[in-house]
Amino acid sequence: MIKFGFLFFMLLIISGSEREAERHLMVRTQIQARGVEHRPTLNALKKVERHRLVPRDVVSYAYMDRPLPIDYGQTISQPYIVAYMTEAVQPQRGHKVLEIGTGSGYQAAVLAEIVDKVYTIEIVEELGRRARRDLNNLGYENIHVKIGDGYYGWKEHAPFDAIVVTAAAEYIPPPLIEQLNEGGRMIIPVGSPFMTQQLVLVEKKDGQVRSRNLMPVRFVPFTRSD
Ligand code: SAH
Repeated sequence: MIKFGFLFFMLLIISGSEREAERHLMVRTQIQARGVEHRPTLNALKKVERHRLVPRDVVSYAYMDRPLPIDYGQTISQPYIVAYMTEAVQPQRGHKVLEIGTGSGYQAAVLAEIVDKVYTIEIVEELGRRARRDLNNLGYENIHVKIGDGYYGWKEHAPFDAIVVTAAAEYIPPPLIEQLNEGGRMIIPVGSPFMTQQLVLVEKKDGQVRSRNLMPVRFVPFTRSD
């Protein structure tokens, strides 16, 4: 009996809490160490079970400081970039957020821990379906996944307090600027595919749109449906 209890305890450490410890370590050494301070973002990264959103063969790399392949030639960003982009749009409770490029659903889950509603669009049908299923299994009821071309945004639910684009576009899609709320922020990698792009922060204030480059990044290309 004692033996069984011990085994059970060990199993718990290995499965659940060990991964939580990994997340806390990830946040401290990869994210806070690089200057991300936004509390809700840090808490969200400690909480979201990234290992349950990535493909099986890379589960053991889930909390490492590196991007990961998610099939169909797509890649998800390293946790630091997810944290940096989340902090940049200053999400808070009460917000409604649009994400373009659902991928694994990880960025959507991080946002959903902070804001009220997340709308996310994925162009690769299989990825969209998979993310919808995985996010559902994790219990996220405030995330809505649509399969389609994110270039046009999601008009029915606009305006958005924040927009996070996770694929590199040659230019900022005008419908996304339109769908940004007054006082809202958008973060988007802009530049040629397969080259270094700039992470651009767009802010809409008093009807004016201002943008500035934050840092060089590399993202998979923003593709179009036609
Ligand atoms: N945010 C994701 C990572 C996304 S990788 C995550 O946290 O896992 C970029 C994703 O953008 C890919 O899945 C790609 O298929 C998708 N994508 C590229 N162009 C798109 C478009 N026009 N509309 C919607 N999704 C797009």
